[in-house]
Amino acid sequence: MGKAEMRKVLITGALGQIGSELAFALAERYGADNVVSSDIRDDVDCRMDGAGRFIRLDVLAKDEFSAAVGGNGIGVIYHLAALLSAVGEGNPQKAWKINMGGLVNALESARENGCSLFVPSSIGAFGPDTPQDDTPQDTIMRPHSMYGVTKVSGELLCDYYHRKFGVDTRGVRFPGIISNATLPGGGTTDYAVDIFYKAILEGKYTCYLKEDTSLDMMYMPDAIKAAIGVMEADEAKLKHRNSFNVTAMHFTPEMLCAEIRKHIKDFTMDYRVDPMRQRIADSWPNYMDDSAAREEWGWTPDFDLAAMTADMIRVLGARHEQGLLV
Ligand code: NAD
Repeated sequence: MGKAEMRKVLITGALGQIGSELAFALAERYGADNVVSSDIRDDVDCRMDGAGRFIRLDVLAKDEFSAAVGGNGIGVIYHLAALLSAVGEGNPQKAWKINMGGLVNALESARENGCSLFVPSSIGAFGPDTPQDDTPQDTIMRPHSMYGVTKVSGELLCDYYHRKFGVDTRGVRFPGIISNATLPGGGTTDYAVDIFYKAILEGKYTCYLKEDTSLDMMYMPDAIKAAIGVMEADEAKLKHRNSFNVTAMHFTPEMLCAEIRKHIKDFTMDYRVDPMRQRIADSWPNYMDDSAAREEWGWTPDFDLAAMTADMIRVLGARHEQGLLV
């Protein structure tokens, strides 16, 4: 039995896009009694029934954070609370405060209570000087967005806490995450989720990125698989920790549009480019090399572009037929 299976798990930012689905996966794997979900928001409703206990926690409140970890017998923290790339670029000071202040408190709470800590990094940690094709695991990282600055700083800080204090910190560089449950929280890759809702509801979509903008993406079941997989990996085999490149597919808006048309024949797309998000997307990899994750802890995705598109349309289409898609 791996470490994580014996100890309770705390998720921060659990009402967000990833946390709201990760909580169910962890509850299913370790038992709902062993999962505590938290967020600064407390608009928790029956959506989260069955995903463990919920507590309100502001990750900037250090004493409350550490007390929640110690008081609930937590052994593993999934630290997801953060501001994403587009929102963060709109308010860089706040992005630094939440992303770095929250991370320092997560690291200290983990150090004080002997916890393992998962911290997601992002393709946003790369910048315009990074090789854009087959982006290596270890390469130039000089991001231009505040989000990226916090992600690179976070990776370095997590490695530092491992070396200096022996904290078991691990992470992955997530690409854009596509899900059919919770809407994304203001990132540069949100179009790849929005497009499905608009395709089903209106049969057309206006994209804010240029048609040939290639980015790495991943369907939510694979994102959850990666987050749990890296935390359950055999520590002795890890050469890297913070953070592993992981990807499942890469595509452009034009390619996604063509794939959706295989299911919704009349679907049309036009473009109104948002310069801020285009600038961010242009500075990120076209596609990453994730061989370190494959070699060190056996990472393999289950969904490619065709499988993800078919599943999104199946799930959202069924919800639309029940009148539940808004
Ligand atoms: P999200 O924006 O959907 O959710 C973040 C959650 O954090 C929200 O529910 C918000 O209420 C909460 N939060 C904000 N400030 C807080 C605070 N002070 N205290 C406690 N909670 C607070 O984000 P997500 O998409 O679920 O992303 C989770 C993590 O994964 C982030 O670190 C993000 O950078 C990373 N990531 C996400 C993606 C993606 O495509 N979704 C891609 C790469 C990396």
